[in-house]
Amino acid sequence: MIVEEMTMTEFEAGLLRTRSVLLPFGSVEEHGPHLPLSTDTFEAYEVCKRAALMMPLFVAPPVHYGNCRSTACHPGTISISTGTLKALFIDIVTALRSQGLRCFVALTGHAGGSHRMALQDAGEELIGRFDDIQIAVVTEYDLARDEGRGLIETEGDAHAGEIETSRILHSHPHLVKGKGASEFPDFPTGILVRQKRKYWPGGVWGDPTKATAEKGKLLEELVVEKIVELVQRMEAFAE
Ligand SMILES: [Zn+2]
Repeated sequence: MIVEEMTMTEFEAGLLRTRSVLLPFGSVEEHGPHLPLSTDTFEAYEVCKRAALMMPLFVAPPVHYGNCRSTACHPGTISISTGTLKALFIDIVTALRSQGLRCFVALTGHAGGSHRMALQDAGEELIGRFDDIQIAVVTEYDLARDEGRGLIETEGDAHAGEIETSRILHSHPHLVKGKGASEFPDFPTGILVRQKRKYWPGGVWGDPTKATAEKGKLLEELVVEKIVELVQRMEAFAE
């Protein structure tokens, strides 16, 4: 049940089928010279929509913006602060709870450390505030990397590389512009730098030339399976 496409009447009827909702989070962030800026949002929204075909589930409209640190200087990245991200998550869950939803899975396609921490912090605040809800915060990129380890050839593939390029080749092939090139950033360990692009000129972390649409399709299926399992576990879970 894709919330942005539903009517009021359909939403009301949907609550009789489930109280669970997936909340896709993404980012507007450079993904190399070959992938669209909304790659993370596309990835998260795509697997949410597919999971909702396998069991009754609401899918909230995606939050397109995320907190991006190491790509902040690259063209096209539009980062929001962790405070704004936290506030968005808290407000959206609070509103959906007042609509009757109880089981919330925040699924982020963007895997930045501060971005995930903000969502986790907000989740902790929410379970402290409401004792009738359940929350999971999942980085769907991690699911793709872990579940797809048998498929992925590039060691340390992380951003706009083999995994993400495969997934967009499968889900949005018309938005992939060429093959990209293998790259690994060269940030000085532990030191925060202002000129981030200097240490990561191409904005790729991994090897996109190893990507195929077929790998993307398989990765997506593996992620969807894990999401469905997680929701089933949450629905049966009592603290
Ligand atoms: Zn990404």
